[in-house]
Amino acid sequence: MVISSTVSHPDEQNESIACTFASRYVREQVPKFKMPENSIPKDAAYQIINDELMLDGKPRLNLASFVTTWMEPECDKLIMDSLNKNYVDMDEYPVTTELQNRCVNIIAHLFNAPIGSEETAVGVGTVGSSEAIMLAGLAFKRKWQTKRKAEGKPYDKPNIVTGANVQVCWEKFARYFEVELKEVKLTEDYYVMDPLKAVEMVDENTICVAAILGSTLTGEFEDVKLLNELLTKKNKETGWDTPIHVDAASGGFVAPFLYPDLLWDFRLPLVKSINVSGHKYGLVYPGIGWVVWRHKADLPDDLVFHINYLGSDQPTFTLNFSKGSSQIIAQYYQFIRLGFEGYKNVMENCLANTRTLKEGIEKTGRFKIVSKDIGVPLVAFSLKDSSKHTVFEIADHLRKYGWIVPAYTMPADAKHIAVLRVVIREDFSCSLAERLVSDIEKVVNLLDTLPSSINSKDAHVAVIASETSEEVKKDITETQAEILRYWKKLVDGKRVGAC
Ligand SMILES: *Cc1c(COP(=O)(O)O)cnc(C)c1O
Repeated sequence: MVISSTVSHPDEQNESIACTFASRYVREQVPKFKMPENSIPKDAAYQIINDELMLDGKPRLNLASFVTTWMEPECDKLIMDSLNKNYVDMDEYPVTTELQNRCVNIIAHLFNAPIGSEETAVGVGTVGSSEAIMLAGLAFKRKWQTKRKAEGKPYDKPNIVTGANVQVCWEKFARYFEVELKEVKLTEDYYVMDPLKAVEMVDENTICVAAILGSTLTGEFEDVKLLNELLTKKNKETGWDTPIHVDAASGGFVAPFLYPDLLWDFRLPLVKSINVSGHKYGLVYPGIGWVVWRHKADLPDDLVFHINYLGSDQPTFTLNFSKGSSQIIAQYYQFIRLGFEGYKNVMENCLANTRTLKEGIEKTGRFKIVSKDIGVPLVAFSLKDSSKHTVFEIADHLRKYGWIVPAYTMPADAKHIAVLRVVIREDFSCSLAERLVSDIEKVVNLLDTLPSSINSKDAHVAVIASETSEEVKKDITETQAEILRYWKKLVDGKRVGAC
């Protein structure tokens, strides 16, 4: 028998046979600032990153977000299979391009766009509603400027009228593309844009009024029908033709299934464009949004780049160039897999679970429900008595049970109202709703036994201090960071990044 042996460096030998946790890699600090000098084995790299990620919250328990956290394994497979496909290579992947065009048509029809039987809809897939809103906003700005130029009038002071409850992406649009955002202030007990006040704020420089179908803060639908009526009247009186955009990021895939008679979409003549997040109630993982225009004429042609592929014209209008194809394919999967019937069932389940949660929260007797029965499936609620403890403390304590529930204050002029919000997604079942109610009860009972943290500048500090006995002791930097985050949230009042 011949025993052969290869000579190698002892370290190398160890590394090739040792399991990751018996290797030196778990003993060394991970590189944080500079790319490391040497390579490490793939299983070690995997383990190190995987383990650090364990400390992230669990997406399924993240009740702060509208964004999809569960899809069917068959769709997961389609997504994995197309991870290496760059969407922008339309020449090479014409079928993927075709699927996006089908999605645009399906959405445009769902939103009742006036499209002839031989016509194709005008729209585009984006990374999310934010990109969609940038594109829609640019189209309005360009149209308005072109018209003003033709009339020989100044075109340097465009504005948009919205409610103060708009999502942060509208502020981004305004700042990036130099459009003034004129916000209609909210009032206590009225947390959406008042169409009357909005139309009053419209002037000759208004490029559009943006209405929200499903306010991010309370899920409430804004009254687009009334807005359309009032604006039509004003346009007639003034000779302007101020259009409407509907930000249906969260509600666009809810209203057509639950409230088909609600008039909010292209059935209203002034609605020229609508955006919707495919990754919210479109039921696709993060990374997909849509914008559709009423007519071809509503998207100025000089914003569109034409790519000639396979002899046919493929217009593109996006901010980014390369991006993945998976989300578009996944959206098409959901459309054909679920159909109208399937989406309706999902939305009805969400609505039923919203009711269960709402009733459970009401039954505790401690909260006032701020969300409306008609709207995006969510429950927003404030404390009836916040003289001793705040919703922020409730959110903090719920974290210990694994729940991620955001607490935030309303925008101007309702900044004194602080709410908790639970978004009901497809994967939030009735039993989870019941569990959450029981954990909320436990938290409020616990808070009853703790000293009040109100009227103390160190409110949150007190809470953290009281936690240390029962919780893993937080180190000083972590505690400071948390306090800073908390106070920032209170001081900013606005835009907490609730999505
Ligand atoms: C979520 C949301 C947005 C932003 O959408 P993304 O798809 O996350 O970019 C914009 N407006 C409203 C009303 C939203 O709810």
